[in-house]
Amino acid sequence: MGKNKLLRALPSVDELLKNPELASLKEGVAHSFLLKAIREVLESRRQGILEGKIGELSKEQILKDIKKRVREITSFSLRPLINATGVVIHTNLGRSPLPEQVLKNVTLLAGGYSNLEFNLKTGKRGKRYDHIRGILRDITGAEDALVVNNNAAAVLLCLSALARGREVVVSRGELVEIGGAFRVPDVMAQSGAVLKEVGTTNKTHPRDYEAAISEQTALLLKVHRSNYRIVGFTEEVSIEGLVGIGRKFGVPVMFDLGSGCFVDLRELGVTDEPVVSEVLRKGVDILTFSGDKLLGGPQAGLILGRKEYIEAISSHPLTRAVRIDKMTLSALEGILYIYADLESAKEEIPVLRMLFQPPQQIKKRALRLYRMLKKALPGLDAKVERDSSQAGGGSLPEVNLPTFVVSVKAKESAEKLKDALRHTEPPVVARVREDRLIFDLRTVQDREVSLITASLKTALECTES
Ligand SMILES: *Cc1c(COP(=O)(O)O)cnc(C)c1O
Repeated sequence: MGKNKLLRALPSVDELLKNPELASLKEGVAHSFLLKAIREVLESRRQGILEGKIGELSKEQILKDIKKRVREITSFSLRPLINATGVVIHTNLGRSPLPEQVLKNVTLLAGGYSNLEFNLKTGKRGKRYDHIRGILRDITGAEDALVVNNNAAAVLLCLSALARGREVVVSRGELVEIGGAFRVPDVMAQSGAVLKEVGTTNKTHPRDYEAAISEQTALLLKVHRSNYRIVGFTEEVSIEGLVGIGRKFGVPVMFDLGSGCFVDLRELGVTDEPVVSEVLRKGVDILTFSGDKLLGGPQAGLILGRKEYIEAISSHPLTRAVRIDKMTLSALEGILYIYADLESAKEEIPVLRMLFQPPQQIKKRALRLYRMLKKALPGLDAKVERDSSQAGGGSLPEVNLPTFVVSVKAKESAEKLKDALRHTEPPVVARVREDRLIFDLRTVQDREVSLITASLKTALECTES
C-alpha cells in the first residue's frame, strides 16, 4: 500500500472514541487521558507511515497500543517495587521501609486536622518540634533536639546558624562526598562558613586541630566517612579527643554522624558505627544524622545537642525553609516510640530486622522462592546459594552480611532478564553475578515471594519469545 493510502486508512479520533472496546474504558479513565492516548498512538502511526516504516495497518494492534498507552498514562510514576538486591538501605529505592503500625498513625494524622502547631493544654500556638523533643531526649540523653527535612539540611542549617563568616576546622580525611551531591566543602561554602582543612588524607593529629584554632574558629567539625574507609597507615582524632580540644579552647564540637544508629551493631561485625547516646555522652555539642538510614525511619535530619546551640539553630531563618512536614513528623514519632524498647526495635523496624535477620531465616525464604519457581517454571535452571549482602545507603561499606540467594540462569543473557524484570508489575530489582540473575532474599518480604515468581514468568516470556 502507498503512503497516502495508508494515511487515509488510519481511523479518526472520533471513530476510535466510538469503538466499543475503547468506550468500555471510559468509565474508569478520564476522557482527557483516553484522548491523549488515542492521539499519541495515531501520531506515531502517522510518523511511521511517513518514514516508510509501516507497510500495513492492523486495527487490532492500534486498539491494543491505545489500551497499553492508557494504562501507562493512568498509572502512577512513583510506585512500589520489590527490592531483591539485598542492599538494605538503598537510596535509589527509597531507603527505609516503614513499619505497618507507624503507617497507620500517619494515615490517620494526614487524613484530618491535628495539633501540629497547636498546644492542646493552653489552646495557644505550639511548635511542631515539641512533639518529638521529649522522646528524643529520653532515648538519647540529649539536652535538646530539632528535626528538619534530611541530614544534608541539618548540616547546612547548623553551619549557617553557628559558623557563618567564621572558620570550621575539619580533617582532610573527612572531606567526603556522599551520594553524589552532598560534598562537605560545598555545603560549607553554601552555609557561608569558611572551611579550615587540617591534617592529611590519611593522618590527622590533635596538634593539627590545635594549631588551626584562632579567634576566627566557630566550630570543630567531625564527619563520619560513611561510604568509604581509609586503611593502612592512618590516624584520626577520636571524638573524645576532639571534645577535649574543644573544651580546652572553648570551641563547640559538631559531629555529622551520617547514619546515626540507636542500637549496637557490633554483633554484625560493625565496629565504626557509634551508638547515638554514646556519642552524646562523650560530650559532643551538636550531633546530626539521617532519619532514614540505620535509624530505619522516614527521611529526616535529626539535630541533637546542647540547649544553647539547638536554640540558636531553631531561631535561624533557614529552619523554616527546611522544616519537617506533618506526615514525616508523625512517622518519626512512631519510630521513636518503638525505640523506647531497643530489643523490640530490632524486630519491629524493617531496616533493623533485615540487618539482624539470621541467615537460616533468609534461607527458608530462598527455599520457598526456589520451590515456587520450580513449580511455575519446571525447566528453569535455579539454585539456592550462599552469598553476601550489603547494608547500603552509604552505611557500613565494608560489611558483608551472609545471606541466601536464588540464582537463575537465563537462556539468553542475565542482563536482559534483569532489564525485563523492571517492566513487570510490580517491578523487581535484582542483580547479576557471573551471568546468573540473583535474587537476594534478605530484602524480600514473605508476601513478595509469589510476586517475584509471577514477575519472573512474565519477564521470561518477554525475553524468550
Ligand atoms: C548520608 C549522609 C549525609 C546526608 O544525609 P541525608 O539524610 O541523605 O540528607 C550527610 N552526611 C553524612 C556523613 C552522611 O552519611
